[in-house]
Amino acid sequence: MPSYCYFKGEYIPLENAKIGVMTHALHYGTGLFEGIRGNWNAAHGQVYIFRLKEHMERMKNGCKVLRLDIPHTADELGRITVEVTKKSGFMEDTYIRPLAYKSSEALGVRLHNLESDFLVFAIPWGRYLDTDACRCSVSTWRRPDDNTFPPSVKATGLYINNALTKTEAIENGFDEGIMLAPDGHVAEGSGENLFLIENGKLVTPATYSSILNGITRDTVITLAKNELGLEVEERLVDRYELYTADECFLTGTAAHLTPVCEIDRRKLGNGGVGPITAKLKDLYFDAIKGNLPKYAHWCTPVF
Ligand code: PMP
Repeated sequence: MPSYCYFKGEYIPLENAKIGVMTHALHYGTGLFEGIRGNWNAAHGQVYIFRLKEHMERMKNGCKVLRLDIPHTADELGRITVEVTKKSGFMEDTYIRPLAYKSSEALGVRLHNLESDFLVFAIPWGRYLDTDACRCSVSTWRRPDDNTFPPSVKATGLYINNALTKTEAIENGFDEGIMLAPDGHVAEGSGENLFLIENGKLVTPATYSSILNGITRDTVITLAKNELGLEVEERLVDRYELYTADECFLTGTAAHLTPVCEIDRRKLGNGGVGPITAKLKDLYFDAIKGNLPKYAHWCTPVF
């Protein structure tokens, strides 16, 4: 079954969607993407797109920063996304990639006087961090501060920062790198937000610590407060806390909720999946698969 792509206003097979070599976004990173998941629920025979509205609203905000003029509202982008996912027809876990980009075939570093375009496609995609016990290292690369580039804008060009971090971590024998903010406090993983559990409390870097304001992060905070009655601290997090916390996990659309067992060769807790992490993980997977009626509004059925 072919993947479909919404490209230049039409739904076409993904393999037919091609971009010219002079496209501005290819040269200067003037694109903006989202990562969205469609989660397969075998019992319901359904794929649920998770928090589609929030992803599209984040995309529209990023478009303002990058001066990408996309005529569609967040709701319209959502409807196009459901349609392309439906046409692709995958009855399995699906990853959806919308991209808004400067589509003019023109050279010159700028954001003005350029055409913008929007495309979206869906592909089958299982696990991203292929481990239940992630081993991390602190990256030598830092996240940018908001005046270098706003870290909550998923600009394609910015992701070279994340790619430097990921490759450094993998080539040094770890699964993921943890980036610090410019002030040296903990920020996040190369594609995930980070949570610690300290004395029964959930602790996570605040949005002012150069993180991407993650939708999975918000999901986990909501579930932790409402369903487990946990106290949640969004604040400055010291590197020291990475080594001394009781539990740690990463969150992201691609990575879901992935427990961390080791940071910079120091074991966390007993080196396995901690009890609070395990509970949150179960709740999270129930929520994204459409198994929690209370959070059904987060899940958009495709079929
Ligand atoms: N931080 C970074 C750098 C990311 O790329 C992502 C993935 N979008 C996240 C955090 C997690 O964000 P979300 O939960 O919205 O996918």
